[in-house]
This record gives sequence, C-alpha cells and structure tokens, in this order.
Amino acid sequence: MLYLDHAATTPPYDEVIDAVAEVMKLHYGNPSSIHKLGMQAEKLLNSSKDVIAGLLGVLPQEIIYTSCGTESNNMAIKGVAYNYRNRGNHMITTQIEHPSVLEVFKQLEKEGFRVTYLPVDERGIVSLDALQEALSEETILVSVMQVNNEVGSVQPIEEIGKLLAAYPKTIFHVDAVQSLTKLPLPPKAWRVDLFSASAHKFRGPKGVGFLYKQEGIHLLPLLGGGGQEYGLRSGTENVPLLVGMAKALRLSMEHMAEKSAKRYELRRRLVQGIADIPELALTGSQAEAETAPHIVHFSFPGMKAEVVVHALEKRDIYISTKSACGSGESDPSKVMLAMGCSRERAVSGLRVSFSDTHSLADADQFLSALRQTVQELAPMLHQTSARKGQRK
Ligand code: PLP
Repeated sequence: MLYLDHAATTPPYDEVIDAVAEVMKLHYGNPSSIHKLGMQAEKLLNSSKDVIAGLLGVLPQEIIYTSCGTESNNMAIKGVAYNYRNRGNHMITTQIEHPSVLEVFKQLEKEGFRVTYLPVDERGIVSLDALQEALSEETILVSVMQVNNEVGSVQPIEEIGKLLAAYPKTIFHVDAVQSLTKLPLPPKAWRVDLFSASAHKFRGPKGVGFLYKQEGIHLLPLLGGGGQEYGLRSGTENVPLLVGMAKALRLSMEHMAEKSAKRYELRRRLVQGIADIPELALTGSQAEAETAPHIVHFSFPGMKAEVVVHALEKRDIYISTKSACGSGESDPSKVMLAMGCSRERAVSGLRVSFSDTHSLADADQFLSALRQTVQELAPMLHQTSARKGQRK
C-alpha cells in the first residue's frame, strides 16, 4: 500500500493514538469541574497549550482551540468581519482559497461586505501590486493561504506582512492548514495577526485544530455558552484530542530542517519522473521557493482525473483529484482555471502528496505504476479524439 494523499489527511503517529486513548481512559473529567478529576483535565489542557505556544514562539493565551481548520477559518473571518464592521466593510482574499474561506466570504458579501478576490498568475501566486491596489483605509481584513491545498503554490506571506505594515488597522489572517510543520510561519516577525491550523494535516487526530490570535485582536465569538477558550469558543474542551494535537505538533516539528530536505528530495524525484512521461503536464512553478515541499500537481490532458485515481487504486496506490472535499466531482478545478489552465487540463488535475517517512524507493514505485497506468489509458485518449474527429 502506498498512501500519497497526505494533503487530504495524514495517518496519526502511534504515540498520538496512545496518548489520546490514555487520556480518554484515565482523565475524562471536565476541565471546568472544580474537583480533582476536573483539575487533572484542566492541567492537561493547559500543558497542551503551553507545548503548542512554546513550539510556535507565541503566548498560550494566543492559541484558541477549535474543532478543525474549517472552524478556525470561520472564526477568524466572521469574527473580524462582525467585530470590526464599524471600521470599514472591505475585505481582501484570493481566488484560490479553500472553500472554508471562500464560502465564508461569499456569505459575508450577501450580508453587505465588499470582498476583493485577488487573481493568481500561472504559478498560482498572487501579485503584491494587485494587493497594494486593492487595499484602502476601508480594508479590515486580508486573508491569504500560505500553501494552496490543491496545487501546492506558496504565497509570499512575509512580503504581504511587510506591505501591510503601512495599514496598521488591517488585520492579516493566514490559512496555514497545509503549511504548518512544512514551512516557517513566524507570526510576530511576519506581521500575521491570525492563522488557522488543523491537527489531522500534521499526523494528529481529526476533529481538532486551533486559531492563533495575536493579543489585542478581538473577534466576535461564533458560539455562545459556557465561556470556554476565553469566551471565544464555548463548549466542553476535547482534552484527549487536544493532548494528541500538542504531541503531533511536537513530533512533526522535530528535525524540521532534515524533514524538509527529505521532502524536497522526494519532490524533485517525482517532478523529474512525471516530466519524463510525455502525456502528462506538471502544474505551476517547480521552483522550490514557490511550492510546498509535500505536494506535486500535474494533469493528464484529455483524461478524467477520476479514471487515473481509480486505476492507481487498483494497484493499491492512493492519490487525489483536486482537494479531498470536492474529489467526488468531475467539474473543472477552479484553482487551475484561475491559473489560466485550459478546461481540458482543469478536469484532469492530479495531486500527489507525501510525507517525510516516504523513501525514494516509494517515489520510484509510484512513478513506475504511473507510467504503466498512462500506457494503459493512453489508447482511450486516442479513441476519444478519433471519435470526435469522425463527428466533425
Ligand atoms: N484550509 C486548507 C488549505 C485545507 O487544505 C483544509 C483541508 O483540506 C482546510 C482549510 C480545512 O481543514 P479541516 O479539514 O480541518 O476542516
């Protein structure tokens, strides 16, 4: 079995599974209870936050626990929109954000907010000039993802932060769900006010994430209730999963430089192998500064992406079409269309995403299966174009 869909989700570390099970068994108290079991749970909650904050170089009270990346994005964007609407009603994002960002902005537009969706170039990267042009005194929020979940392009977060230094009232949110533990994101140095994270992307449990919120930024809470998470996210905390998330973050951030070098080495091997298959076309830039270390995206023009995914599945190899949320559909990828790819390419996009635990032998095994799959499927391509020719 070769699981190459790490951008969709990752297998949790064994240590994480053990830690979650142990806390579920032994420390099931409610952290809000005043007795000993409650205090034990509260202690675990606080120490998990200390670990996360320490690893990220921020304060524990700047970490707000959530149930997933989607919730973190909603909390950030709606929280800013509703809290700061008296300052202005304009917000800026990009055309290639995850649906948990784009759908929120669409909803806010219906509520009267004005939203600018910045275009991207053929590399899948926004232009700083376009951002500069869109910014005004009315802009309350800029929300830009660090790594695109589909094609893996990396946005210039540090440069955007520098540009925003001239707009102290504009809040800067980064969707770091795909990038955290893969690329650096020092929020204080890069003037990032808010960033979203999700544990299942870095070998933690599903159903748990967090939002980094710089002290001094205020958000209107989405959930009212018992006042947990500084009143920002009421609901009894899921202590086992939070402990699991802290452990996963610590393990993934260990030896980050070596892991990153390993991922780029694997990436180079995959890119070279895919470039050598004439039927396939790599998507976007392959420059390492402009692409995530764990994602390679390409298309098989003329072939529906699902056909390739299922053909590889028969060989026990698992990759993705578009992102996990929309992988059932065969409509063109909006991200690829935004990058200027043809419709033919945009319905045939394939994503391979991997981990530092994969080896060069795994990359070679995948490439060999891919070559065979393309050879098997290529005649179908010619039949389809011949049929089209007869119809003309
Ligand atoms: N943002 C990005 C860039 C993602 O890739 C994803 C998940 O694929 C999310 C947000 C949503 O995260 P979650 O699955 O934890 O809700």
